[in-house]
Amino acid sequence: MVYSTLMNSENLKYCRVVVKIGSHLIVSGSDEFITSIAKQVKVLREHKCEIIIVSSGAIATGLKEYDVNSKPKTIIEKQCYAAVGQPLLMNKYIKAFQPYNITVAQILLTREDFDDRKRYVNIKNTLNKLLHMNVVPIINENDTVATEEIKLGDNDTLSAIVATKLDAELLVLLTDVDGIYDKDPAVYANAKIIREIQNLDEIERECRISTKSKFFCGTGGMKTKLAAAKICVHSGVDVVIANGMKNNILVDIVEGKTVGTKIYSVKKANRVTSRDKWIAFVSKPKGRIFVDSGAADAIIKKNKSLLPVGIRKTEGMFKKGDVVSVCTIDGKEIARGIVNYSSEEIEVIKKKKTEEIKKIFPQFSTEEVIHVDNLVILN
Ligand code: GLU
Repeated sequence: MVYSTLMNSENLKYCRVVVKIGSHLIVSGSDEFITSIAKQVKVLREHKCEIIIVSSGAIATGLKEYDVNSKPKTIIEKQCYAAVGQPLLMNKYIKAFQPYNITVAQILLTREDFDDRKRYVNIKNTLNKLLHMNVVPIINENDTVATEEIKLGDNDTLSAIVATKLDAELLVLLTDVDGIYDKDPAVYANAKIIREIQNLDEIERECRISTKSKFFCGTGGMKTKLAAAKICVHSGVDVVIANGMKNNILVDIVEGKTVGTKIYSVKKANRVTSRDKWIAFVSKPKGRIFVDSGAADAIIKKNKSLLPVGIRKTEGMFKKGDVVSVCTIDGKEIARGIVNYSSEEIEVIKKKKTEEIKKIFPQFSTEEVIHVDNLVILN
């Protein structure tokens, strides 16, 4: 492959990049595709750009090994094909990177690893250390152990979480379509690709985005890509969605060339902190707290803590320290936060004023069920 530009470091717009590779690219792009990725990663690393890969394709590779053409129906089947396919997938990466003397590392994760703060700090430290050792981490969801409750479900979301956790500046979602179109290109001949998105929320409202990955093993499609982009842009990470089969695509993107669709992150001042991100996007809420309109207003408009008096009911079993959703009485999620009380305790203290609660529980000390510092308001 010939590189159109001879890069120099000043051309690079980003220093730490997460690249997500879809299943379709792995199985139909064949070994040539992975070789081209390895070559581009080598070029980028020579210019001091750190790359973390999130790769799908374990299930698809497992299916290919058995010449199976239909989608596995049960979780256990998917888990078995993933168990067969994951080492084969890694072998492709090892072989592709070997000629460039680049070592790769396999990292398999589930949602639970991010739910637990200690575990996710560990992941972060390990990944940082691997990058420091010049190793290219290759991450996939640990499909073999991930049951529905602990599954992130798709690697678009996983890659977005990794990008925000690892303080990457850019997430590249490589797929088999050229980017986001203003309407479905399969239906409308005049559909145009959207090159730049400054305000993701607006675009989502305006466009009929219906482009879906054709390959059955990719759980993604544009919907999950946009959801992933949402996680990123609110955390200061730019996103590019592009066709992985295009020549030199990764290098072009990191150099800031106009390829695919680029979604810009929100300005620094509006960014959420790392703890906020964890509460809002990474951790799966363990239950729901329904609040009255007074409490909802206090949280959204006045930036206040959640007090027992405004709570109408709880749903689910959770304990002190868990992340829960805060919802209006009609079920709209308005915030997420870390609770100071278990669901059982809240059921006793709900709707009550602090004085009243103190009479029942003299040891009652914290009046906030969720302190404002541990509360993230959702749009
Ligand atoms: N983890 C799955 C695999 O490697 C793919 C999930 C996805 O397509 O997003 O096969």
